[in-house]
Amino acid sequence: MRFPFSPIDYHEPVFRPPSEASSFILQITLGCSWNRCAFCEMYQSKRFRVRSLEEIESDLKQAARLWPDTRRVFLADGDPLVLAPSRLLPILEMIRKYLPAAQRISAYASPRNLAARTVEELAAIRGAGLNLVYVGIESGDDCLLERIQKGETAATIISGLNHAAQAGIRRSVMILIGLGGETLSRQHAEQSARVVNETRPEHLSTLVLRFPLGENRFRSLFGADYRPLDYLGHLREMRLFLCGLSLDRTVFRSDHISNVLALRGTLSRDRDPLVARLDRFLLDIEKNPGPWEREFRDRDQRSL
Ligand code: SF4
Repeated sequence: MRFPFSPIDYHEPVFRPPSEASSFILQITLGCSWNRCAFCEMYQSKRFRVRSLEEIESDLKQAARLWPDTRRVFLADGDPLVLAPSRLLPILEMIRKYLPAAQRISAYASPRNLAARTVEELAAIRGAGLNLVYVGIESGDDCLLERIQKGETAATIISGLNHAAQAGIRRSVMILIGLGGETLSRQHAEQSARVVNETRPEHLSTLVLRFPLGENRFRSLFGADYRPLDYLGHLREMRLFLCGLSLDRTVFRSDHISNVLALRGTLSRDRDPLVARLDRFLLDIEKNPGPWEREFRDRDQRSL
């Protein structure tokens, strides 16, 4: 589907991380080449394809005319790093030609695409301007990764994230709270913390599992033992995850609307105060659950 009133030829739907709200979004691929994750509905309506250099250049010419001072560019859609360096580097050169003020170029990336490149290849990509990747690892637990058909293992995630770090590309990593339901909650929290500790991303955030189009597809892929966590379960899982983290200077956020409690801080310096805040919040809810249940029901509706 095309968005009819945009000066740019966007192929909808278009997604970007919250922190890219003011960036120019440049679609260099459409959809996701994997498109199989059990929880992900983002690109179900799209068939994956790589846009031609002519299409990309046309968007860049429009951006140069309309927003010549653009400082941030976000490459869409789901996994632009599936492109080999021989295809990605000319696109990055074109961005520098048309938007010379761009200081930050970022993209979603899957760990396997990062792991498939050598550090030298990623360093060349970094040198051409791409300096930040958003990596939804979702979990560090192999059993859960297999059930959700992520196409990754803890080992590929660690390898991909560490390749990017060695090439000087900053990593913003996302974990999906609630992904394993009650059955896998503990191992999801513990193994995710382990993978994050081994990769030490510059940014870390959590989102909570939501199903705007219903749970059926997820249930059929996850298995019959999927039992969703309630909001108390989400908070307890988050607590376990935070307690398992041992980091130096990772900026942490759980301020996406899907989260039960918004937390922000630098880990590990702020880890214990964040856990203490979570504990106070849990105590408040346990003492007087009624108003919180209403609040979370309303919030669930708003975040869908
Ligand atoms: S790799 Fe990312 S975009 Fe593709 S299906 Fe999985 S979660 Fe969705």
